[in-house]
Amino acid sequence: MSVVVFAEQWEGKFKKTTFEAVSYGRRVADMLGVPTVAVVIGSLDEDAAQLATYGANKVVHFNASSLNSFDSSAFASALKEVAVSEEAQTVILSGTSNGKSVVPSLAIQWGAAPITNVAALPDSVDPMTVKRGAFSSKGFVTYTAHEQKTVLSFIPNAIGVAEFPGEAIVEEGSGAAEARVQVKGVDRATGSVPLPEAELVVSGGRGLKGPENWGMIEELAELLGAGTACSKPVSDMHWRPHSEHVGQTGIAINPNLYIAVGISGAIQHLAGVSNSKVIVVINSDAEAPFFKAADYGVVGDAFSVLPQLTEAVKRFKQG
Ligand SMILES: Cc1cc2nc3c(=O)[nH]c(=O)nc-3n(C[C@H](O)[C@H](O)[C@H](O)COP(=O)(O)OP(=O)(O)OC[C@H]3O[C@@H](n4cnc5c(N)ncnc54)[C@H](O)[C@@H]3O)c2cc1C
Repeated sequence: MSVVVFAEQWEGKFKKTTFEAVSYGRRVADMLGVPTVAVVIGSLDEDAAQLATYGANKVVHFNASSLNSFDSSAFASALKEVAVSEEAQTVILSGTSNGKSVVPSLAIQWGAAPITNVAALPDSVDPMTVKRGAFSSKGFVTYTAHEQKTVLSFIPNAIGVAEFPGEAIVEEGSGAAEARVQVKGVDRATGSVPLPEAELVVSGGRGLKGPENWGMIEELAELLGAGTACSKPVSDMHWRPHSEHVGQTGIAINPNLYIAVGISGAIQHLAGVSNSKVIVVINSDAEAPFFKAADYGVVGDAFSVLPQLTEAVKRFKQG
Protein backbone atom coordinates (compact mmCIF):
# COMPACT_ATOMS: atom_id res chain seq x y z
CA MET A 1 0.00 0.00 0.00
CA SER A 2 1.14 3.57 -0.64
CA VAL A 3 0.13 7.03 -1.77
CA VAL A 4 1.51 7.93 -5.21
CA VAL A 5 2.23 11.57 -6.14
CA PHE A 6 2.83 13.07 -9.58
CA ALA A 7 6.04 15.10 -9.01
CA GLU A 8 5.71 17.38 -12.02
CA GLN A 9 8.80 18.97 -13.51
CA TRP A 10 9.12 21.61 -16.18
CA GLU A 11 12.22 21.70 -18.36
CA GLY A 12 14.12 19.54 -15.88
CA LYS A 13 13.18 21.53 -12.78
CA PHE A 14 10.56 20.91 -10.13
CA LYS A 15 7.78 23.43 -9.72
CA LYS A 16 6.94 24.84 -6.29
CA THR A 17 3.56 23.14 -6.45
CA THR A 18 5.36 19.80 -6.91
CA PHE A 19 6.72 20.18 -3.39
CA GLU A 20 3.20 21.06 -2.26
CA ALA A 21 1.88 17.90 -3.98
CA VAL A 22 4.49 15.67 -2.34
CA SER A 23 3.88 17.13 1.10
CA TYR A 24 0.10 16.83 0.60
CA GLY A 25 0.62 13.22 -0.47
CA ARG A 26 2.75 12.58 2.62
CA ARG A 27 0.07 13.94 4.91
CA VAL A 28 -2.54 11.70 3.25
CA ALA A 29 -0.11 8.76 3.46
CA ASP A 30 0.39 9.43 7.19
CA MET A 31 -3.40 9.34 7.64
CA LEU A 32 -3.41 5.94 5.90
CA GLY A 33 -0.24 4.75 7.64
CA VAL A 34 1.51 3.96 4.31
CA PRO A 35 4.63 5.27 2.46
CA THR A 36 4.67 8.11 -0.08
CA VAL A 37 5.96 7.35 -3.59
CA ALA A 38 6.72 10.32 -5.88
CA VAL A 39 6.74 9.77 -9.65
CA VAL A 40 8.98 11.92 -11.87
CA ILE A 41 8.50 11.73 -15.63
CA GLY A 42 11.04 12.99 -18.18
CA SER A 43 14.67 14.05 -17.89
CA LEU A 44 15.61 15.98 -14.79
CA ASP A 45 18.39 18.53 -14.07
CA GLU A 46 17.82 18.30 -10.33
CA ASP A 47 18.33 15.59 -7.74
CA ALA A 48 15.13 13.52 -7.55
CA ALA A 49 16.05 12.49 -3.99
CA GLN A 50 15.39 16.07 -2.77
CA LEU A 51 11.69 15.14 -2.79
CA ALA A 52 12.43 13.36 0.51
CA THR A 53 12.51 16.82 2.12
CA TYR A 54 8.80 17.15 1.31
CA GLY A 55 7.86 13.69 2.51
CA ALA A 56 8.65 11.19 -0.28
CA ASN A 57 9.90 7.80 0.93
CA LYS A 58 10.62 6.64 -2.60
CA VAL A 59 10.95 8.30 -6.01
CA VAL A 60 10.25 6.42 -9.25
CA HIS A 61 11.83 8.19 -12.22
CA PHE A 62 10.64 7.45 -15.79
CA ASN A 63 13.55 8.77 -17.82
CA ALA A 64 12.76 7.46 -21.32
CA SER A 65 13.37 10.14 -23.97
CA SER A 66 9.91 9.34 -25.41
CA LEU A 67 8.45 10.88 -22.23
CA ASN A 68 10.30 14.20 -22.46
CA SER A 69 7.28 15.85 -24.11
CA PHE A 70 4.09 16.04 -22.11
CA ASP A 71 1.41 13.56 -23.20
CA SER A 72 -1.50 13.17 -20.76
CA SER A 73 -2.27 9.56 -21.72
CA ALA A 74 1.36 8.38 -21.54
CA PHE A 75 1.96 10.24 -18.26
CA ALA A 76 -1.24 8.70 -16.86
CA SER A 77 0.02 5.26 -17.87
CA ALA A 78 3.32 5.84 -16.01
CA LEU A 79 1.41 6.86 -12.89
CA LYS A 80 -0.92 3.86 -13.27
CA GLU A 81 2.07 1.48 -13.52
CA VAL A 82 3.40 2.76 -10.21
CA ALA A 83 -0.05 2.84 -8.59
CA VAL A 84 -0.54 -0.82 -9.53
CA SER A 85 2.92 -2.01 -8.50
CA GLU A 86 2.77 -0.10 -5.20
CA GLU A 87 -0.83 -1.22 -4.58
CA ALA A 88 -1.71 2.42 -4.06
CA GLN A 89 -5.05 3.56 -2.78
CA THR A 90 -4.68 7.20 -3.84
CA VAL A 91 -2.79 9.18 -6.47
CA ILE A 92 -2.26 12.90 -5.80
CA LEU A 93 -1.67 15.58 -8.45
CA SER A 94 -1.44 19.35 -8.32
CA GLY A 95 -4.16 21.00 -10.42
CA THR A 96 -1.74 22.57 -12.88
CA SER A 97 -2.64 22.55 -16.60
CA ASN A 98 -0.77 19.25 -17.00
CA GLY A 99 -2.09 17.79 -13.76
CA LYS A 100 -5.67 18.59 -14.73
CA SER A 101 -5.33 16.85 -18.08
CA VAL A 102 -3.76 13.71 -16.57
CA VAL A 103 -6.54 13.18 -13.97
CA PRO A 104 -9.36 11.86 -16.24
CA SER A 105 -7.03 9.63 -18.25
CA LEU A 106 -5.51 8.16 -15.08
CA ALA A 107 -8.91 7.64 -13.45
CA ILE A 108 -10.08 5.66 -16.51
CA GLN A 109 -6.85 3.67 -16.97
CA TRP A 110 -6.58 2.79 -13.28
CA GLY A 111 -10.34 2.44 -12.58
CA ALA A 112 -10.39 5.06 -9.82
CA ALA A 113 -12.74 7.84 -8.64
CA PRO A 114 -11.39 11.30 -9.56
CA ILE A 115 -11.92 14.26 -7.23
CA THR A 116 -10.61 17.56 -8.63
CA ASN A 117 -10.26 21.08 -7.22
CA VAL A 118 -9.50 19.71 -3.75
CA ALA A 119 -9.08 22.53 -1.24
CA ALA A 120 -8.04 20.82 2.01
CA LEU A 121 -6.69 17.66 3.58
CA PRO A 122 -9.21 14.78 3.57
CA ASP A 123 -11.71 14.67 6.44
CA SER A 124 -11.38 10.89 6.21
CA VAL A 125 -9.29 8.53 4.08
CA ASP A 126 -11.57 5.49 4.37
CA PRO A 127 -13.81 6.24 2.63
CA MET A 128 -12.00 9.18 1.00
CA THR A 129 -13.95 12.28 2.03
CA VAL A 130 -12.56 15.65 1.03
CA LYS A 131 -13.60 19.28 0.56
CA ARG A 132 -13.41 20.74 -2.94
CA GLY A 133 -14.14 24.13 -4.51
CA ALA A 134 -17.38 24.28 -6.50
CA PHE A 135 -19.44 26.74 -8.54
CA SER A 136 -16.34 28.49 -9.90
CA SER A 137 -14.89 28.51 -6.38
CA LYS A 138 -17.83 30.48 -4.98
CA GLY A 139 -18.53 27.64 -2.57
CA PHE A 140 -17.25 24.32 -1.26
CA VAL A 141 -18.73 20.82 -1.36
CA THR A 142 -17.54 17.72 0.46
CA TYR A 143 -17.22 14.60 -1.69
CA THR A 144 -17.09 11.01 -0.48
CA ALA A 145 -15.70 8.49 -3.00
CA HIS A 146 -17.53 5.19 -3.41
CA GLU A 147 -14.42 3.62 -4.94
CA GLN A 148 -11.50 2.40 -2.83
CA LYS A 149 -9.06 3.87 -5.38
CA THR A 150 -9.07 7.67 -5.78
CA VAL A 151 -7.26 10.29 -7.85
CA LEU A 152 -7.12 13.68 -6.10
CA SER A 153 -6.01 16.92 -7.73
CA PHE A 154 -5.78 19.96 -5.48
CA ILE A 155 -5.91 23.70 -6.13
CA PRO A 156 -2.27 24.86 -6.38
CA ASN A 157 -1.22 27.08 -3.43
CA ALA A 158 -4.34 26.08 -1.47
CA ILE A 159 -2.58 23.59 0.79
CA GLY A 160 0.98 24.87 1.32
CA VAL A 161 4.37 23.16 1.38
CA ALA A 162 5.47 21.18 4.43
CA GLU A 163 8.85 19.60 5.17
CA PHE A 164 9.51 16.18 6.69
CA PRO A 165 12.71 14.53 7.95
CA GLY A 166 13.99 11.46 6.09
CA GLU A 167 15.55 10.16 2.91
CA ALA A 168 14.19 8.67 -0.29
CA ILE A 169 15.44 5.90 -2.52
CA VAL A 170 15.28 6.60 -6.26
CA GLU A 171 14.27 3.81 -8.66
CA GLU A 172 13.96 3.74 -12.42
CA GLY A 173 10.39 3.45 -13.73
CA SER A 174 9.40 1.29 -16.68
CA GLY A 175 6.33 0.06 -18.50
CA ALA A 176 4.75 3.43 -19.38
CA ALA A 177 2.99 3.73 -22.74
CA GLU A 178 4.80 5.58 -25.53
CA ALA A 179 3.77 9.23 -25.96
CA ARG A 180 1.42 9.59 -28.92
CA VAL A 181 2.11 13.27 -29.55
CA GLN A 182 5.38 14.92 -30.35
CA VAL A 183 6.11 18.57 -29.58
CA LYS A 184 7.61 20.18 -32.69
CA GLY A 185 8.26 23.63 -31.25
CA VAL A 186 7.42 25.94 -28.37
CA ASP A 187 6.54 29.65 -28.49
CA ARG A 188 6.93 31.11 -25.07
CA ALA A 189 6.07 34.44 -23.45
CA THR A 190 9.33 36.02 -22.35
CA GLY A 191 10.38 38.61 -19.82
CA SER A 192 7.58 38.14 -17.34
CA VAL A 193 6.65 35.90 -14.43
CA PRO A 194 4.54 32.94 -15.74
CA LEU A 195 0.99 33.69 -14.61
CA PRO A 196 -0.09 30.25 -13.34
CA GLU A 197 2.89 30.19 -10.98
CA ALA A 198 3.00 33.86 -9.99
CA GLU A 199 2.71 34.47 -6.25
CA LEU A 200 1.86 38.12 -6.86
CA VAL A 201 -0.26 39.37 -9.75
CA VAL A 202 -1.10 42.91 -10.93
CA SER A 203 -4.11 42.91 -13.24
CA GLY A 204 -5.83 45.55 -15.36
CA GLY A 205 -9.32 45.93 -16.80
CA ARG A 206 -11.22 48.14 -19.17
CA GLY A 207 -10.98 50.98 -16.62
CA LEU A 208 -7.40 51.53 -17.85
CA LYS A 209 -8.87 52.93 -21.11
CA GLY A 210 -6.29 51.59 -23.55
CA PRO A 211 -3.12 49.52 -24.09
CA GLU A 212 -0.96 52.65 -23.97
CA ASN A 213 -1.64 52.87 -20.22
CA TRP A 214 -0.31 49.40 -19.35
CA GLY A 215 3.10 50.81 -18.44
CA MET A 216 1.63 51.60 -14.99
CA ILE A 217 0.66 47.94 -14.48
CA GLU A 218 4.00 46.67 -15.77
CA GLU A 219 6.03 49.08 -13.62
CA LEU A 220 4.29 47.99 -10.41
CA ALA A 221 4.49 44.32 -11.42
CA GLU A 222 8.22 44.58 -12.12
CA LEU A 223 8.87 46.31 -8.79
CA LEU A 224 6.97 43.57 -6.94
CA GLY A 225 8.32 40.69 -9.06
CA ALA A 226 4.69 40.00 -10.00
CA GLY A 227 2.98 38.53 -13.05
CA THR A 228 0.59 40.66 -15.11
CA ALA A 229 -3.00 39.68 -15.91
CA CYS A 230 -6.10 41.25 -17.44
CA SER A 231 -9.86 40.88 -17.82
CA LYS A 232 -11.40 39.17 -20.84
CA PRO A 233 -12.51 42.30 -22.75
CA VAL A 234 -8.97 43.64 -22.47
CA SER A 235 -7.54 40.60 -24.24
CA ASP A 236 -10.50 40.43 -26.66
CA MET A 237 -9.66 44.00 -27.74
CA HIS A 238 -6.00 42.94 -28.14
CA TRP A 239 -4.83 45.45 -25.54
CA ARG A 240 -3.05 42.50 -23.93
CA PRO A 241 -2.24 38.93 -25.05
CA HIS A 242 -4.77 36.16 -24.37
CA SER A 243 -2.19 34.42 -22.19
CA GLU A 244 -2.94 37.12 -19.57
CA HIS A 245 -6.71 36.66 -19.55
CA VAL A 246 -7.89 35.34 -16.18
CA GLY A 247 -11.34 34.12 -15.25
CA GLN A 248 -13.88 31.46 -16.07
CA THR A 249 -12.83 31.30 -19.71
CA GLY A 250 -9.21 32.22 -19.05
CA ILE A 251 -6.56 31.05 -16.60
CA ALA A 252 -7.54 30.33 -12.99
CA ILE A 253 -4.87 31.63 -10.64
CA ASN A 254 -4.19 31.25 -6.91
CA PRO A 255 -1.60 33.90 -6.01
CA ASN A 256 -0.88 35.18 -2.52
CA LEU A 257 -1.73 38.73 -3.70
CA TYR A 258 -3.99 39.85 -6.57
CA ILE A 259 -4.15 43.60 -7.30
CA ALA A 260 -7.09 44.40 -9.62
CA VAL A 261 -7.06 47.81 -11.25
CA GLY A 262 -10.08 49.15 -13.15
CA ILE A 263 -11.82 45.75 -13.17
CA SER A 264 -15.51 45.62 -12.26
CA GLY A 265 -15.41 42.14 -10.66
CA ALA A 266 -17.94 40.32 -12.84
CA ILE A 267 -18.68 36.78 -11.66
CA GLN A 268 -16.84 35.32 -14.68
CA HIS A 269 -13.70 37.27 -13.71
CA LEU A 270 -13.97 36.29 -10.03
CA ALA A 271 -14.22 32.62 -11.06
CA GLY A 272 -10.54 32.72 -11.97
CA VAL A 273 -9.14 34.86 -9.16
CA SER A 274 -11.23 34.32 -6.03
CA ASN A 275 -8.80 31.70 -4.69
CA SER A 276 -6.19 34.47 -4.30
CA LYS A 277 -5.12 34.73 -0.67
CA VAL A 278 -5.36 38.58 -0.56
CA ILE A 279 -7.29 40.69 -3.08
CA VAL A 280 -6.71 44.44 -3.46
CA VAL A 281 -9.16 46.36 -5.66
CA ILE A 282 -8.62 49.83 -7.11
CA ASN A 283 -11.76 51.16 -8.77
CA SER A 284 -13.30 54.63 -9.20
CA ASP A 285 -16.82 53.26 -8.61
CA ALA A 286 -17.53 52.57 -4.93
CA GLU A 287 -20.38 50.28 -6.04
CA ALA A 288 -18.14 48.04 -8.21
CA PRO A 289 -18.96 44.39 -7.34
CA PHE A 290 -15.27 43.56 -6.93
CA PHE A 291 -15.19 45.41 -3.59
CA LYS A 292 -17.40 42.64 -2.10
CA ALA A 293 -14.63 40.11 -2.82
CA ALA A 294 -11.77 42.43 -1.78
CA ASP A 295 -9.64 42.25 1.35
CA TYR A 296 -8.50 45.83 0.72
CA GLY A 297 -10.17 48.39 -1.52
CA VAL A 298 -9.23 51.83 -2.79
CA VAL A 299 -12.04 53.92 -4.29
CA GLY A 300 -10.23 56.22 -6.67
CA ASP A 301 -8.97 56.96 -10.14
CA ALA A 302 -6.40 54.34 -11.19
CA PHE A 303 -4.40 57.06 -12.97
CA SER A 304 -3.82 58.78 -9.65
CA VAL A 305 -3.84 55.81 -7.20
CA LEU A 306 -1.55 53.45 -9.12
CA PRO A 307 1.41 55.87 -9.50
CA GLN A 308 1.12 56.70 -5.78
CA LEU A 309 1.11 52.99 -4.91
CA THR A 310 4.14 52.41 -7.14
CA GLU A 311 6.01 55.31 -5.51
CA ALA A 312 5.13 53.95 -2.05
CA VAL A 313 6.48 50.50 -3.00
CA LYS A 314 9.68 52.13 -4.31
CA ARG A 315 10.13 54.04 -1.05
CA PHE A 316 9.45 50.87 0.95
CA LYS A 317 12.01 48.92 -1.05
CA GLN A 318 14.61 51.65 -0.56
CA GLY A 319 14.12 51.09 3.17
C1 LIG B 1 -19.60 33.24 -20.85
C2 LIG B 1 -18.77 34.39 -20.37
C3 LIG B 1 -17.48 34.15 -19.94
C4 LIG B 1 -16.68 35.20 -19.50
N1 LIG B 1 -15.40 34.94 -19.06
C5 LIG B 1 -14.68 35.95 -18.54
C6 LIG B 1 -13.39 35.71 -18.01
O1 LIG B 1 -12.88 34.57 -18.03
N2 LIG B 1 -12.70 36.76 -17.50
C7 LIG B 1 -13.21 38.03 -17.45
O2 LIG B 1 -12.51 38.95 -16.97
N3 LIG B 1 -14.42 38.29 -17.94
C8 LIG B 1 -15.16 37.29 -18.50
N4 LIG B 1 -16.39 37.58 -19.02
C9 LIG B 1 -16.78 38.98 -19.13
C10 LIG B 1 -17.34 39.54 -17.83
O3 LIG B 1 -18.72 39.26 -17.74
C11 LIG B 1 -17.14 41.07 -17.78
O4 LIG B 1 -17.78 41.64 -18.90
C12 LIG B 1 -15.67 41.49 -17.77
O5 LIG B 1 -14.99 40.82 -16.75
C13 LIG B 1 -15.58 42.98 -17.54
O6 LIG B 1 -14.26 43.39 -17.71
P1 LIG B 1 -13.74 44.70 -16.98
O7 LIG B 1 -14.04 44.61 -15.54
O8 LIG B 1 -12.34 44.92 -17.42
O9 LIG B 1 -14.60 45.86 -17.70
P2 LIG B 1 -15.84 46.68 -17.20
O10 LIG B 1 -16.97 45.82 -16.78
O11 LIG B 1 -16.09 47.69 -18.26
O12 LIG B 1 -15.33 47.41 -15.88
C14 LIG B 1 -14.37 48.42 -15.86
C15 LIG B 1 -14.25 48.90 -14.43
O13 LIG B 1 -13.25 49.91 -14.39
C16 LIG B 1 -13.70 50.92 -13.49
N5 LIG B 1 -13.03 52.15 -13.90
C17 LIG B 1 -13.31 52.93 -14.98
N6 LIG B 1 -12.45 53.96 -15.04
C18 LIG B 1 -11.62 53.83 -13.98
C19 LIG B 1 -10.53 54.58 -13.48
N7 LIG B 1 -10.08 55.65 -14.12
N8 LIG B 1 -9.91 54.14 -12.35
C20 LIG B 1 -10.33 53.03 -11.69
N9 LIG B 1 -11.36 52.31 -12.12
C21 LIG B 1 -12.00 52.67 -13.25
C22 LIG B 1 -15.19 50.96 -13.66
O14 LIG B 1 -15.81 51.52 -12.49
C23 LIG B 1 -15.52 49.49 -13.84
O15 LIG B 1 -15.81 48.87 -12.61
C24 LIG B 1 -17.19 36.53 -19.48
C25 LIG B 1 -18.51 36.75 -19.91
C26 LIG B 1 -19.29 35.71 -20.33
C27 LIG B 1 -20.69 35.97 -20.77
